[in-house]
Amino acid sequence: MAFIYADVIVDISHEKLDKTFEYRIPENLLGKVEVGSSVIIPFGKGDRKLKGYCVALKEKCDFDPARIKDICSLTEKGVSIEDKMIELAGWIKRNYGGTMISALKTVLPAKTSVKQLEHKTVVRAMENEALISLLGECERKHQTSKAKVLRELLERDFIPREFLTGKLGISPQSILSLEKAGALKVLESKSLRNPVKVKEKTGQRKILSKAQKLIVDTVTDEYRRGIRNTYLIHGITGSGKTEVYMNIIEDMVLQGKQAIFLIPEIALTYQTLIRFYDRFGDRVSVMNSTLSPGEKYDQCMRAKNGDIDVIIGPRSALFVPFKNLGIIVVDEEHEGSYKSESTPKYNARETAEEVAKINNASLILGSATPSVDSFYKAEKGLIKKFELNERLTGGSLPTVYTVDMREELKAGNRSIFSEILSDLMLERLNRNEQIILFLNRRGYAGFISCRSCGKVVKCPHCDVSMTEHLNGKIVCHYCGYEERKPSKCPQCGSGFIGGFKAGTEQIEMKVREMFPGVRTLRMDGDTTKTKDSYEKILSAFSNGEADVLIGTQMIVKGHDFPNVTLVGVIAADMSLGSGDYMSSERTFQLLTQAVGRAGRGEKPGEAVIQTYQPDHYAVICSATGDYRGFYNEEIAYRDLMDYPPTGHMLAVCVFGKNEAECVKFTGTLAKTLKVDYNCTFGEFKIIGPVAARVSKINDVYRYVFYVKSKDREVLVDVKDHLEKYVNDTGNFGNMVQYDFDPVNSF
Ligand code: ADP
Ligand code: ZN
Ligand code: ZN
Repeated sequence: MAFIYADVIVDISHEKLDKTFEYRIPENLLGKVEVGSSVIIPFGKGDRKLKGYCVALKEKCDFDPARIKDICSLTEKGVSIEDKMIELAGWIKRNYGGTMISALKTVLPAKTSVKQLEHKTVVRAMENEALISLLGECERKHQTSKAKVLRELLERDFIPREFLTGKLGISPQSILSLEKAGALKVLESKSLRNPVKVKEKTGQRKILSKAQKLIVDTVTDEYRRGIRNTYLIHGITGSGKTEVYMNIIEDMVLQGKQAIFLIPEIALTYQTLIRFYDRFGDRVSVMNSTLSPGEKYDQCMRAKNGDIDVIIGPRSALFVPFKNLGIIVVDEEHEGSYKSESTPKYNARETAEEVAKINNASLILGSATPSVDSFYKAEKGLIKKFELNERLTGGSLPTVYTVDMREELKAGNRSIFSEILSDLMLERLNRNEQIILFLNRRGYAGFISCRSCGKVVKCPHCDVSMTEHLNGKIVCHYCGYEERKPSKCPQCGSGFIGGFKAGTEQIEMKVREMFPGVRTLRMDGDTTKTKDSYEKILSAFSNGEADVLIGTQMIVKGHDFPNVTLVGVIAADMSLGSGDYMSSERTFQLLTQAVGRAGRGEKPGEAVIQTYQPDHYAVICSATGDYRGFYNEEIAYRDLMDYPPTGHMLAVCVFGKNEAECVKFTGTLAKTLKVDYNCTFGEFKIIGPVAARVSKINDVYRYVFYVKSKDREVLVDVKDHLEKYVNDTGNFGNMVQYDFDPVNSF
């Protein structure tokens, strides 16, 4: 049967995108109308000709066929912003699965009836001296947020109001009260179109280093010559990447183009924002998760109307509809948070490539520890790579000690801390310098390892760590292979085999026990539940309110702490046991970042990496700062096992309330691939099905199987086939989700 009906959406600015209308595809357009096509349709009583977008094709119609109207025509491939967004949504649907509607909801800002935001700028209204004395008064009275605003005003003459109330968390009352005191005025942004021009901050301009200049010149030059490329900047923290981005963006803005600057929310520091505000004034805006849908919509309208040139934000900032997008920058491109956790599970780094293509823009990826994926593309010559090797801020890379915890055990030390780490901590505390203790719990899934010889029990088929289950078994979360949990190490026979149980709380207790009177701060999932607790803990530590900061991976990103001269990594190998193919890559990145936290200021730093696997390349190479060495080992492993980027994986996850049916349906899906398509698709391999790592959430069971192929397009076909099968047969109350190249195992 052919698809002769189409669901058409008429008004994409409508809040309820799901409102679609059925149309018949006339003979002359059969096979030409696709999901995402823009079409002209007769609408309403008078058959007014309207433009609409096809969001689904159907063999049968739901309404009375006699009353269904024909589509009039297809429109030319569009150039309007709306057409581009629809094209993008179509691409997302095809490449990540899900419905066109859910893809549209991802790329289009929801129009809500929220009152439009007013964009206001806070302008200084007092001379320096008066401001300083008012600041002193506020500090005496412990009016910290007012003091914060005043300190900002001493630095710059204007600040976007949303920046104060958003990122700095200043209450409107504080601003009002300072206005009453005559310290500042709040103005409509419009009356101050481009504050940068009002008062040029010439002192802020850096003379670019040779290496920086080469990047800026190459990118801007190629752009002018009509060449669109993807570039990778591999440069350690502090090597001047942000300065490079800003110069390139500035050049774009001068040409009347706009820029999207993507940065993981956790890495979007106050210092970075200030640098952008200082350079681009109120032509730059921030989009972050604290904005309401109405505010997000408003940001998009400002972009569309040409009121801003630069948007900064996490993942979703990618969908801000600029008219003349010139460049997209993806900073910290290796970050896992660029992968969406909800359907469609798009990867913002990959999607940025598509957005750049649709808009004829260039793309820059930047990182101190590039993703294996991007580095691989650079090696293959698909993207152009630059390196920045010098730290421009001064401060040297820390001295790193790798401690073999197996030896500590042999020597009778059963504490969480090695001898050298305890000694160095005491030394710092005596010198009033600060310490960060990083508990590497990322991806922690209860893996099993030996504390005597370091052996990690791995799946013989998938070469990833096995995970401990409550029923006394250990399981592979890719293929489902299981074994009894060993009571003795299979390699050395030691009884010290098991999971690593210590949490941040225990570490904090231990530190307090060892060093009475020490001031500690803890940062983990528990202490950062409220909206601004993350910022609060970091700024307290930065103000010297504690000697030791203990935390999970959150503490290794962003913020600089000049007084931190020692970083201790507890159990570096924990993230090596996360049970998926990315575990070494993540470990290398986390360890590199953690080590880099020490010695950011004048004083030299030291770092201690405690591990049971001192010979693992992710540990060795992060200690020596050898990215290339790490990459070579890692790509060999990926290639051998057909893991991304040399091969691809599709996770098919089935959710259902009835466990037996959920299991059965997962099996049926896997079987239809084997039966129907093994010969007609390209080559692929099915692994599983298996219960997901978290096999039940809120009474909903989760089962999963993986499809592996060298060719990503084959997996797209597999997904299309499964989507069609699910649609045709009904899904018995189970829900199916797709995840391409999953960054975490299900
Ligand atoms: P990254 O983004 O790689 O961490 P940044 O661009 O933030 O690096 O630069 C690190 C520090 O060096 C910043 O304080 C920045 O102002 C300074 N910096 C960058 N480029 C130069 C330069 N060409 N000359 C002097 N200082 C620079
Ligand atoms: Zn052992
Ligand atoms: Zn396995």
